[in-house]
Amino acid sequence: VFNFAAGPATLPENVLLRAQSELYNWRGSGMSVMEMSHRGKEFLSIIQKAESDLRTLLDIPSEYSVLFLQGGATTQFAAIPLNLCTAEDTVDYVVTGSWGDKAFKEAQKFCKPKMIWSGKSEKYTKIPSFHELEQNPDAKFLHICANETIHGVEFKDYPTPKNRSGILVADMSSNFCSKPVDVSRFGIIYAGAQKNVGPSGVTIVIIRKDLIGNAQGMTPVMLDYKIHDENNSLYNTPPCYGIYTCGLVFEDLLEQGGLKEVEKKNKKKGEILYNAIDESNGFYKCPVEKSVRSLMNVPFTLKKSELEAEFIKEAAKEKMVQLKGHRSVGGMRASIYNAMPLAGVENLVAFMKKFQARHA
Ligand code: PLP
Repeated sequence: VFNFAAGPATLPENVLLRAQSELYNWRGSGMSVMEMSHRGKEFLSIIQKAESDLRTLLDIPSEYSVLFLQGGATTQFAAIPLNLCTAEDTVDYVVTGSWGDKAFKEAQKFCKPKMIWSGKSEKYTKIPSFHELEQNPDAKFLHICANETIHGVEFKDYPTPKNRSGILVADMSSNFCSKPVDVSRFGIIYAGAQKNVGPSGVTIVIIRKDLIGNAQGMTPVMLDYKIHDENNSLYNTPPCYGIYTCGLVFEDLLEQGGLKEVEKKNKKKGEILYNAIDESNGFYKCPVEKSVRSLMNVPFTLKKSELEAEFIKEAAKEKMVQLKGHRSVGGMRASIYNAMPLAGVENLVAFMKKFQARHA
């Protein structure tokens, strides 16, 4: 089965088989990773290796901390303003889709965010050109969602923050580790693991160390980056099995040759699918502006929208599942994260052509 779900999403088969082979007895320890103390030497070696491999993959500079947290990216929507701002501080949000909007709304509880650009009136099909952003010079940070999972728009480059602190914060939940990123351009990168790098339950935060330690007084300990940083993500019981699985994915990505190689594969998959949509004489349509189409989440509609349910049902019969678009936008969405093999996209495109021939 090819699983096009947006997240939790398909994971590399070899990673799952490896996890299966180690399930009962992790490397001769006599324990499953699920049964280990998070303070024992076995799990410490797992979390340290996961961090070190992620640092290699993304070439994370030493002045950044890597935290393995819980609560999903949604919890970070609150943690970020709580850690970086006072209640009176202003911050800038660029809203290119539903996730950016949720982040903006959550921040309203903890500081004074301003939406400096919104793609809502154009149904979130665009990314602004950076010179049209009217940044507030007093903003404490500039927040973007690097890839909008529901609407399928992706930043191909990043704006330079023109605020006094020069801090750019990015939600990379749905394109994390899908391509190389210059981490040094960001104050914080955060991502839920459950799209590209593991199961749900793990949230990764990469944060410049000088931004740690100024949380608002009311910040719960679980949201305070200082607490997690000082305790190497082991302040409380972490999502051990999830972190272990992320570690296996990082090893796999390194074995594939790193993120440059991964990006090449993702570009190829995206090209095949978008070409099939664009060359269908309007039978299929992707609403997103071409230059900012996501390589991870490909939303598309049928000209004859009454055929959508049939498309999804017939695709499932041919073992391609989870193609229904998000309930807020309808249509279809094919999520083609790192672990979606080229064959999955080729199968989908062949099916799309057959379906069109039958219904044109
Ligand atoms: N941000 C983006 C871009 C997402 O795609 C998602 C979930 O799909 C979230 C945030 C919320 O993540 P979580 O469900 O892990 O809180």
